Amino acid sequence: MGQRSLHQASVDQFQRAADLIEISDTYRNILSHPKNEIIVNFPVWVGSGELKIFTGYRIQHSNVLGPFKGGLRFHPDVDLDEVKALAAWMTFKTALVGIPFGGAKGGVTIDPREYSKDDMRKIVRKFTHALGSNIGPNHDIPAPDVGTNSQTMDWIMDTYANITSPGQRQSVKGVVTGKSIECGGSSGREEATGRGVLYSLRHWLGETGGRLDELSVSIQGFGNVGSHFARLAVEAGCKIVAVADHTATLINEDGIDIEKLRDWTAQNPGIIGFGGATEADTEELFSLPVDVFVPAALENQITKERAEKMSCRLVIEAANGPTTPEGEKVLAEKGIEIAPDILANAGGVIVSYFEWLQNKSSRAWSAEDIDRRFKDLVWKAHDNVVDVRKNLDCSRRDAAYVVALRRLTSVYERRGIFP
Ligand code: GLU
Repeated sequence: MGQRSLHQASVDQFQRAADLIEISDTYRNILSHPKNEIIVNFPVWVGSGELKIFTGYRIQHSNVLGPFKGGLRFHPDVDLDEVKALAAWMTFKTALVGIPFGGAKGGVTIDPREYSKDDMRKIVRKFTHALGSNIGPNHDIPAPDVGTNSQTMDWIMDTYANITSPGQRQSVKGVVTGKSIECGGSSGREEATGRGVLYSLRHWLGETGGRLDELSVSIQGFGNVGSHFARLAVEAGCKIVAVADHTATLINEDGIDIEKLRDWTAQNPGIIGFGGATEADTEELFSLPVDVFVPAALENQITKERAEKMSCRLVIEAANGPTTPEGEKVLAEKGIEIAPDILANAGGVIVSYFEWLQNKSSRAWSAEDIDRRFKDLVWKAHDNVVDVRKNLDCSRRDAAYVVALRRLTSVYERRGIFP
């Protein structure tokens, strides 16, 4: 995080869209503040007997459309301001795609790479215990995000079940989504965000013309989202010419062998050392001439300076908040379009919703069922954004917020503000 508040930037984003459709100050004020900010400091014995105090967050932004929903991030840069922004984005994301959830986000300020699996299990269990009844299958439902995965979710579910009374234990599997299939996870959840990013690309091509097998793509980030997107994009015919992560930037203008790179990262701490491409300077990623740029890492990556070097046609925000307001202005001036985060990366929370429904009914849906329902929701959300964009003559980001704001304010109008 830089000096500027990420949360304030997220507020400015929705306010711009609110101006377009004249949303009243009442709703602007409510949506500018998270409903609850939970901070827990919890001690854990780690390593060979050292007591460490960790700080964890759960920010519950809105539950007007349904239970709070959103991921847990384990990263050294996690702080209150970041989690507040990420929580607000979840509210708009779930409203935009029309699923009955609110928005939340949480995390722990930690570098998971510095701890053993044994330590991580203790840290996750203690964090879950510290959150206690602030989460719950009908109240607030965490999921994976940067630095967490299905193993993290399995531990949270197990810990939560163990602090639940015996008669209720079997009914709380849905306290988290993104679990392993063995523990009640859903088919397709792991690749869902990457799959949704590819749908964003397909939808954009349907609108603007062109074919997937004519596109060159650069990707920043090779974690869950970036690597699954890369695999699916190659299957669909795209050429991935650059991949960057925290260890290196790799370029191969003939196309990187993504299957081999995935095998490499399964055995190594990052993409560094992979033979099938040339290592380049971090900044070269932004100046490389490609059709599509996919930021799939952290916030604030496309700054003004980097945007000035970029020459792609489309940026698909697989990460949350990857473009700074100044970067966005430069991209707009250059005619580079943005598929906004709350639309482009909504695939994860959509399949989380399916997992939650399956847990509620103790049933497992088939992969075909999930694919069909997934495509329906993603496609409808994109269609809605394109319609609004045409009617209001605005950016895709503003249009996405307009769809979300209309949904949120119509519910506030009918429910009223208590008391
Ligand atoms: N962390 C993901 C996101 O930013 C997924 C959230 C979820 O599945 O609840 O959308």
